Amino acid sequence: MSNAAASPQHVAVLAFPYGTHAAPLIAIIRHLAHLSPDTHFSFLSTAASNAALFSVKNPANLTRRDVPEPPADGRHHSVVMTAFLSTAGEVFRKEVAEVEVEVGRRVTCLVTDAFFGFAAEMAAEMGVGWVAFWTAGPASLSAHFHTDLIREKVGSQGLGGLELDMLDFIPGMSKIRVHDIPSEVLGDINSGFPKALHQMARALPKANSVFINSFEALDPNITSDLNSKLHNFLNIGPLSLLINQPPSLDTHECLPWLDTQKPNSVAYISFGTVTAPPPLELVAIAEALEESQTPFLWSLKDHSRANLPDGFLDRTSELGKIVPWAPQVDILAHPSVGVFITHCGWNSVLEGVISGVPMIGRPFFGDQKINARVISDVLGIGGVIEGGTFTKSGLTDILEVILMGKSGGKMRERGEELKKAAREAVKEDGSSVRDLKVLLEQVNEVIN
Ligand code: UDP
Repeated sequence: MSNAAASPQHVAVLAFPYGTHAAPLIAIIRHLAHLSPDTHFSFLSTAASNAALFSVKNPANLTRRDVPEPPADGRHHSVVMTAFLSTAGEVFRKEVAEVEVEVGRRVTCLVTDAFFGFAAEMAAEMGVGWVAFWTAGPASLSAHFHTDLIREKVGSQGLGGLELDMLDFIPGMSKIRVHDIPSEVLGDINSGFPKALHQMARALPKANSVFINSFEALDPNITSDLNSKLHNFLNIGPLSLLINQPPSLDTHECLPWLDTQKPNSVAYISFGTVTAPPPLELVAIAEALEESQTPFLWSLKDHSRANLPDGFLDRTSELGKIVPWAPQVDILAHPSVGVFITHCGWNSVLEGVISGVPMIGRPFFGDQKINARVISDVLGIGGVIEGGTFTKSGLTDILEVILMGKSGGKMRERGEELKKAAREAVKEDGSSVRDLKVLLEQVNEVIN
């Protein structure tokens, strides 16, 4: 409590515990905690999420608080996530009041996942600032932010033939098509996830800052549009370059295996932490890899192996390697990797960008479709799988184009430019370092 008198700052961090939301949030909070040793950071997430995040050493001024979560009861993860969101306002209000007592300091700032639009009101009730973290990319944030405008222009009763229309009425979004927009934007905004995201869109202008794991040069037009509409829109990425992170373990010896492969030859395949392609598509991927004899490194959960074609693992034991988890950032940086087959989750996309590796997108839900369009049409560093789902011939063709063809070479050139720009952003005088300083000031702002 003596510290409290000298420096009363206490930041309550409210995490969304599903998908890859809490991991980048704790990475940035850990960094802020190092930079502000007198400020206390309470990280509120579910026990399961906190167990993973606090398995590494954290600074003493960063402590965890486990919040209750709805029982899974065998329900689909999207149902559990929606249930969590629907009571999150109530649950976090109670937990924050308790953590103030536990830590012995009044909370002076709320840092939350941007999904928690209720935080605008909660911060106002508490008389503190609100700083929101959008864990995906700038284009999806722009789509959600402009939900009302998009619904006004496009309508909300089905797409009615407008699927291919461009969002050229929003700065920086002229290459994004209506059917790339996250389904929640045009969904029924009166309930569930779409309702929460709509509430978020309307609340974000009240945030003192909205920050994002990206860098300004990746999308300067969206940055400037959001900067003009939000109090502070801060690009503080790529986090994996900007801040020191605990080293990832190479339990399955992926890197030594990559050392044995030719430069730019290997297809690295991963669909993130939540998504699993349906069995027929897994078969198509396997057949395309085998037929094209493309060396591969595949991060595939053990339970999905059963869906691979009979004998595939034996026949390809020399050609490729399948592991249940891979140190993705290090893998993408390896010179043997020639293409990244991805579901287009934002963290994966950004990790691909900073490595300059061309990508093949097979988006599934949420922001993934818009990210895929950004990769292919905005940044020109990848392609989207034809027809939206993996087929043997579709994947074989695009692998050939990217690994052997001219367009693959162009993507690599463009990738090199972005790779360089990402590194510029994290230099001492870079845009992300500048924005990080603003973020640090905001979370430490003294309240009266
Ligand atoms: N990841 C990893 N190894 C794997 C699979 C995934 O390190 O075998 C990491 C990847 O580097 C990324 C995160 O998991 O940081 C996935 O995040 P993303 O936003 O792409 O997708 P999500 O999991 O949220 O669908």
